[in-house]
Amino acid sequence: HHPLDKLKFDNRFVRELPADPVTDNYRRQVFEACFSFVNPTPVSKPELVAYSPEVATDLGLSDEDCQSEQFVQVFAGNQLLDGMQAHAHCYGGHQFGNWAGQLGDGRAINLGEVLTDRGEHLALQLKGSGETPYSRSADGLAVLRSSIREFLCSEAMHHLGVPTTRALSLVTTGEGVVRDMFYDGRPKTEPGAIVCRVAPSFLRIGSYELFTSREDIDNLKQLVDFTIRHHFPHLGKPGKATYLAWLNEVFELTADLVVHWMRVGFVHGVLNTDNTSILGLTIDYGPYGWVDDYNPDWTPNTTDASGKRYRFGHQPQIMQWNLYQLANAIYPLINEVEPLQELLNDFVKSYTNKWQAMRSAKLGLKAWQNEDDELHRQLQKILLLTETDMSIFYRQLAEIPCETSEQTDEQLLALIASSWYAPDSVSVPDKKQIVDWLRSYQQRVRQDNTDDLSRKTQMNLVNPKYVLRNYLSQQAIDLAEQGDFSLVNELLDVMRHPYDEQPERQQFAAKRPDWARDKPGCSMLSCSS
Ligand code: AMP
Ligand code: MG
Ligand code: MG
Repeated sequence: HHPLDKLKFDNRFVRELPADPVTDNYRRQVFEACFSFVNPTPVSKPELVAYSPEVATDLGLSDEDCQSEQFVQVFAGNQLLDGMQAHAHCYGGHQFGNWAGQLGDGRAINLGEVLTDRGEHLALQLKGSGETPYSRSADGLAVLRSSIREFLCSEAMHHLGVPTTRALSLVTTGEGVVRDMFYDGRPKTEPGAIVCRVAPSFLRIGSYELFTSREDIDNLKQLVDFTIRHHFPHLGKPGKATYLAWLNEVFELTADLVVHWMRVGFVHGVLNTDNTSILGLTIDYGPYGWVDDYNPDWTPNTTDASGKRYRFGHQPQIMQWNLYQLANAIYPLINEVEPLQELLNDFVKSYTNKWQAMRSAKLGLKAWQNEDDELHRQLQKILLLTETDMSIFYRQLAEIPCETSEQTDEQLLALIASSWYAPDSVSVPDKKQIVDWLRSYQQRVRQDNTDDLSRKTQMNLVNPKYVLRNYLSQQAIDLAEQGDFSLVNELLDVMRHPYDEQPERQQFAAKRPDWARDKPGCSMLSCSS
């Protein structure tokens, strides 16, 4: 029974872009090529943990197909289908602000591009499938805990409406993987796993930067033209004007992406240019995190704890810095500084406008007015007066009646208090400030003439009830490491409807419990995955 044989492949990337002529897997610098042919390393005992029915449907696969023996063999890397051409991308990148040279797919192996019935191309990529020329000093493998995190978060983000690479499947390999754990620094063997990621393209800023850093402008141009031809075909023929229009579009997509991250409280954690998609997708789920208590200075990445380069509130600036690197990389095709500088300036304006519109939407306001600056400034302040759960706060705010202003201070505070981590320790003056803000909010809503019910409905479409809180993933991981995958699958299911009430699943919308505050995995993560 070979149900996956129905997948049709059309491997444009491999067909149209230059390949590395060497087909050994040994680690090396690869020049004048976009990828190297490689083979996934077979694994001994693959087992399916979970799959995304939505991604399967996009690919034309049924539940039955996903539960077949062939499915688990293919997505563990043990079997290549007809039409697959396994390969690893060559790219570079800036890591933590420094040029790092060649990086590449060190543990990701692309299988090919599925041509779907709807005429879309979807690239399949195994993460954790063994060594490639780009593995440098590492093993090319992935452990179960980080694979669960990538699998769940990719799908959660999609259902939250945040542009992202997707995840088709999560399998365990039956192999052990050695990692330095952050608990005590001693090496530990963990279960290995493989996620199959899916996206129209896995190209990132670092893909372009590498060619420019090597002054290989021929191949830079080939890659840019390929990108536009297949991913931005409406922009037309190659040429300076088209390249600028393309950059403009990439910048807009990136601005939209960051607005969504800020909307839902997502912190990527490693926004290096090799982890910045050219399609404006969230890509590479490593030590990411979700803010529980609102804090623009929070980063989940222990590797970044001192510098906090990749903290929550700094993501717009960091993405502008990354786009600056993209502009530098494309410069040889433009040969003029001014239009690039203009695009970078426009990014700031564009992000500011988009974020203002989103902040209005989060408050249930029809549009941004200049006077709203103050309302938002004060909101920032009151969110920081006492530890306040961001997700719960916005859902509770939607419940505040604004059609009348008859509530007492106590009644208003009672509506918000469930978002506080330490309600008993909020001081009287702080409560006063919070009430003042709530009253100015009510007043502002009344200017809009929106009735309470429609405001609540609108707010609850942009402010999720369920996000993939760090401690929830960690609980699913703890169980999974004992062989129980039920919570992985339940979280996947909860996160399918993040804006709905789901009355029987309120526990998944609860504040982070106290025990999880400083527990590894629940608040801070390292890059060791
Ligand atoms: P990341 O910080 O996850 O974006 O990874 C940076 C670079 O390290 C990329 O080139 C990855 O492919 C590579 N890399 C990360 N983990 C591994 C691993 N376990 N084996 C091989 N390469 C890896
Ligand atoms: Mg990466
Ligand atoms: Mg990674």
